[in-house]
Amino acid sequence: MNNFDLHNPTHILFGKGRIADLDAQIPAQAKVLLLYGGGSAERTGVLGQVRSALGNRTVVEFGGIEPNPRFATAIKAVDVIAEHGITFLLAVGGGSVIDATKFIAAAAKYDGDAWEILTSMGSVVKSAMPFGTVLTLPATGSEMNPGSVITHAEKGAKLPFMTAHCYPVFSILDPELTYTLPPRQIANGVADAFVHIIEQYLTYPVAASVQDGFAETLLRTLIELGPKALETPDDYDIRANLMWTATLALNGLIGAGVPQDWASHMIGHEITALNDTDHARTLAVVLPALMQDQRGPKREKLLQYAANVWNIREGDDDTRIDAAIDATRNFFHAMGIDTRLGDYGLGAPDIDLLVAALESHGMTALGENQAITPDTARRILNAAL
Ligand code: NAP
Ligand code: FE
Repeated sequence: MNNFDLHNPTHILFGKGRIADLDAQIPAQAKVLLLYGGGSAERTGVLGQVRSALGNRTVVEFGGIEPNPRFATAIKAVDVIAEHGITFLLAVGGGSVIDATKFIAAAAKYDGDAWEILTSMGSVVKSAMPFGTVLTLPATGSEMNPGSVITHAEKGAKLPFMTAHCYPVFSILDPELTYTLPPRQIANGVADAFVHIIEQYLTYPVAASVQDGFAETLLRTLIELGPKALETPDDYDIRANLMWTATLALNGLIGAGVPQDWASHMIGHEITALNDTDHARTLAVVLPALMQDQRGPKREKLLQYAANVWNIREGDDDTRIDAAIDATRNFFHAMGIDTRLGDYGLGAPDIDLLVAALESHGMTALGENQAITPDTARRILNAAL
């Protein structure tokens, strides 16, 4: 096992009716900026619950944060913070609203050009405003991690940043808030969490039995419960387990002391930047092709994945690896997610654009061995056509 530091300060409040606990989590004197997305939080009633839980505090609202949140929108919120003397941010929504809130929290305290937060991947951030979250979509783990991804539409860039200053102070996880999710978003959440786990698990082995065991349990939970969540949208235990799985998939626990890949994410981000394909769907396109391409370096873990996650134990090594890759693709299909670039309107000519974008964003040595060069990415994308 590799050396690691693990310090996750986010306080999780999990379960039914936990929005009522907001009052105790936010200082009584705080001036709160309530951030949300394009309307679902209003329609589903979650904003109403939040407003009443906030009591008599000064609350200013900022709605309209887009899926794949935009830099320009976040900058508008930074102006609102200065104008109203806001002291605390509260994100109500999915990964997009939470990611935008992290960027806003950092940008509000940053003296230079806020774009540098993204081009430096967060290293220029020295402080951030405190913020909490009310999660409405289990998927990204953003509710308990220090990462964020922001899209700059004019620059055609979707860039991540990470800083220890951007852990949420608290996150409220009420599985009942997920009953209103459309099937497309449930499927996206399950697929995104699945690939988060894979990015930290399907690398070279370092004898990290605990992390591997956790990761395999989380993967099997998604495989078992993901399709059931589509069939029975108001089953509390299914939603509760999916919600907690998605959080544990990317809160530092399974990634501590192990090599990490993240190439599917970085290649996927370029697809979203190009044509706005849902984040999770880009991953379902890239991952099976990447597994196939990297079956040499990932051989040992692919065999472990086949046996422990899919119970594939028959045949020689290559047969078992093929079966595990097929099972992965079929799982995405069972969630109603297509796995080919062509399914999202992209063809061979777009691959040049995607590879050029990776190069221009410095994504030239991806994966746990920094061995996924632009040429490798091109091969993977060609295999995903
Ligand atoms: P999202 O973009 O936050 O939300 C997707 C859609 O779901 C929105 O249209 C939203 O509607 C709707 N929605 C949310 N909650 C709902 C509910 N309870 N009922 C009905 N509709 C609801 O989706 P996401 O998958 O959570 O986040 C994706 C973003 O996170 C991407 O930009 C991705 O790159 C990023 N990401 C971040 C991390 C990280 O660690 N920080 C990791 C992976 C991915 P409204 O807009 O109307 O609210
Ligand atoms: Fe993701």
